[in-house]
Amino acid sequence: MGRPRGFIELRRSKGEARPIAERVHDHAEYDLPLPDPELRDQAARCMDCGIPFCHQGCPLGNLIPEWNDLVLAGRFDEASASLHSTNNFPEVTGRVCPAPCETSCVLSLETLPTEGGRRPPGAVAIKQIEHQIADRNLHLAPQRALVRSGRRVAIVGSGPAGLAAAQQLARRGHDVTVFERDDRVGGLLRYGIPDFKLDKRVLDLRLGQLEKEGVTFRTRVHVGVDVRGDQLRAQYDAVLLAGGALVPRDLAAPGRALPGVHFAMDYLTQENRRVANVPVIGEPILATGKHVVVLGGGDTGSDCVGTALRQEAASVTSLELLPRPPDERRSSNPWPEWPLVFRTSGSHEEGGERRFGVRTTELVGEDCIRALRAEAVAFVDGQLVPTGETLELPCDLLLLAMGFVGSAKAGVLEQLGVDLDARGNVVAEDHATAVRGVFVAGDMRRGQSLVVWAIAEGRRAASRIDAFLASS
Ligand SMILES: Cc1cc2nc3c(=O)[nH]c(=O)nc-3n(C[C@H](O)[C@H](O)[C@H](O)COP(=O)(O)OP(=O)(O)OC[C@H]3O[C@@H](n4cnc5c(N)ncnc54)[C@H](O)[C@@H]3O)c2cc1C
Ligand code: SF4
Repeated sequence: MGRPRGFIELRRSKGEARPIAERVHDHAEYDLPLPDPELRDQAARCMDCGIPFCHQGCPLGNLIPEWNDLVLAGRFDEASASLHSTNNFPEVTGRVCPAPCETSCVLSLETLPTEGGRRPPGAVAIKQIEHQIADRNLHLAPQRALVRSGRRVAIVGSGPAGLAAAQQLARRGHDVTVFERDDRVGGLLRYGIPDFKLDKRVLDLRLGQLEKEGVTFRTRVHVGVDVRGDQLRAQYDAVLLAGGALVPRDLAAPGRALPGVHFAMDYLTQENRRVANVPVIGEPILATGKHVVVLGGGDTGSDCVGTALRQEAASVTSLELLPRPPDERRSSNPWPEWPLVFRTSGSHEEGGERRFGVRTTELVGEDCIRALRAEAVAFVDGQLVPTGETLELPCDLLLLAMGFVGSAKAGVLEQLGVDLDARGNVVAEDHATAVRGVFVAGDMRRGQSLVVWAIAEGRRAASRIDAFLASS
């Protein structure tokens, strides 16, 4: 603990963002770094609380107080080594993680006494510090295994779970091949999350490292279609399923079949391809000049808002079925739990309107959607019930961002004979499915989740596979 009174004397700061008027006209990232002296001040706010709840908050168990101390001392190389010892892709989590570490930081404890009253002084800016350690690129040199095991592992899916597992297994000396049905590697990091949150050059730098470490990527191979799952199992010593949870939740409302109604991922994938100068697949979906309505208020919905604003939509409205969350934690949701409170993303700050407690009842139009009808709803005795208020919004483009309902059984999962639970997630015990030598990680196992969880799952599954290979 470098500065014992750091958390009292220094205010939390996580850096500026580029002005909204500027950033909505491009696709570049909008978060700006802190100058080095300020970054070290932020690290100095870590109070070495003895029981680091931030370790618990971070699904990767990142050694946060340790690297905060090293940053304060200006020892970035050691800070980076510590960070990479638990996290394969800190340059990604440093950009897109919602930072559950910060909400469980002792400095965000509401009852902590402060000099100015009962407001918490604000968590250590952990994510910003992680981002800036990672962006020094101090650990991008390949770490090649000195001894080869001669064992072969196939990984289905190249999202963060598959990539983290691939890197861990390659470093253990196994021959790893990652199969990806898309034309490019990265899963939702590539074609889901927009560039203004995650510049794809960051991803490509890391993929270069994986290739040099011996990972083989085979794109445009849809396992279950181009090659059968059981054939893959026969050809490899182990198979890891990391195909994500990409079946979108649909809207059951009259008018759903009207042109102009699209799943959010179809829209976001197209824009990611445009920004990458890769040809768009299918009929172009564009928000330019249109009244856009986005159903769903999570990360996917928010990314649609930011994208539609950049495409110069006439208006953007976000509708969320659930009522607006409270600004402060409820007593039933105490620290260090994840706070169920109202959040504003960078895209929401940029514009558009947000409405909560709204249920879509009908989509209206003839040759194309023209309006959306809805009713207001509120919780009564734990049930969502109509309040009697109705509304009609102009709508030429409706984007469905209501989450995902797991994986489809047909194809690779059926061919391998693995089971799905009622939520559409692959059933496994500590990542091992009931089929010998077949493992699962990421959204395909836990359902729609976060990048940080996908990396943690990939790492854990890799260690299970490594132990399996050693014993078989
Ligand atoms: C629009 C959007 C924005 C998001 N924003 C954030 C965010 O800001 N922060 C955050 O933490 N999380 C975010 N998430 C969630 C996060 O991206 C996911 O939790 C994470 O990517 C899951 O990783 P994964 O490796 O399990 O699967 P995915 O990233 O979904 O990758 C799975 C890959 O497997 C491939 N695949 C599937 N089946 C096959 C097959 N049979 N053969 C070959 N390949 C196959 C798919 O094409 C895909 O490339 C977002 C999600 C979405 C949809
Ligand atoms: S990965 Fe996420 S939870 Fe973990 S330290 Fe980084 S920002 Fe925090």
